[in-house]
Amino acid sequence: MVEELEIGRVERVELRVVGLPLVAPFATAAGARTTRDVLLVRVDAGGVAGWGECAAFAEPSYTAETIATARHVLAGFLVPVLGGVRTAGELAAAFSAVRGHPMARAALESAVLDLVGRRHGQPLWRLLGGSPGTRPAGVAIGLQPSVGVLVDAVGRALAEGYRQVKLKVHPGWDVEPVRAVRSHFPDLGLWVDGNGSYGPGNLDALLALDELGLRMIEQPLPADDLVGLARLGARLGTPLGLDESVESVGDLEAAAALGAARVLNLKPGRVGGMLAARQLARRARELGLEVFVGGMLESGLGRTGCLHLQTLGEVTLDGDLSAPGRYLQEDLVKPSPGLDARGCLPVPSGPGTGVEVLQEVVDRLTLAVEVLVP
Ligand code: MG
Repeated sequence: MVEELEIGRVERVELRVVGLPLVAPFATAAGARTTRDVLLVRVDAGGVAGWGECAAFAEPSYTAETIATARHVLAGFLVPVLGGVRTAGELAAAFSAVRGHPMARAALESAVLDLVGRRHGQPLWRLLGGSPGTRPAGVAIGLQPSVGVLVDAVGRALAEGYRQVKLKVHPGWDVEPVRAVRSHFPDLGLWVDGNGSYGPGNLDALLALDELGLRMIEQPLPADDLVGLARLGARLGTPLGLDESVESVGDLEAAAALGAARVLNLKPGRVGGMLAARQLARRARELGLEVFVGGMLESGLGRTGCLHLQTLGEVTLDGDLSAPGRYLQEDLVKPSPGLDARGCLPVPSGPGTGVEVLQEVVDRLTLAVEVLVP
């Protein structure tokens, strides 16, 4: 049981913000970004170091957290209680004094789990109770400047070896582009994600998407509109999936009781860490939901954590985890997750995450660093 494994006395915690240059600009509410800024957490205990990555973006565009709020909560409230924690299982109780901020908690937990895995010689997938093996990778493709550019992007992803594609949709960018992709690639495993951008006035578009043979429509309505999602789901043949709506088991129970979803997008950052994600996956299966692991434009460090999580038996669907080389000019771990000949991202077998942080790259891309003693 991972919960019972000793962490050792934590002597030092490093919080470091790095700016990873993107292959192509990423649209946000604050404008186009050319880097994916990432908050890294390094925990040192007894001569062993563990690394974790915070899923938060620089802007509160996906959920409320940002890199700045995560640094504040980690430095002021989460790192200080680490000194009294002996095992991974005690983390949740130690963090319980902090409301919210799941991405901050998840980042520190992932560094601790990496450290525990390295200290005890166990890969993360085994610590979590998963099985060796991997699943076909998928890609998520954002809003594009034209339908032609989108169809080309999908074609490139398929040529690279991906078999499943998730398209971001938004009111005004939905039926026409998705129909075009469907007509070019009739057999493609295709799904869409609205990131909560639809409302009561967009029903016609959602009903039209329902006719396009999609595997799933993810989070069309805002996170807190479970009643609206339940009503919408009753009108659609395509399964509805939830992402932003589910941050806790309570959210999941409410969604299931209302019939608001048939699929759960599991992201360890959004739900407070790997151990909470595992608990959610188990409950989701008991409630009859399908489960997949989704990505957050992570570096290879965070993405490898997601690959380990994806080995759980409760994960029933292939997700949208692609190789970081698709969107990052340079990764900060070795090996950087890459597609194998079967179209899968292999799960490392070494202790902890099984990847090595490239200190030279991290140093060169560092924007800010602070060192804390619990
Ligand atoms: Mg989503």
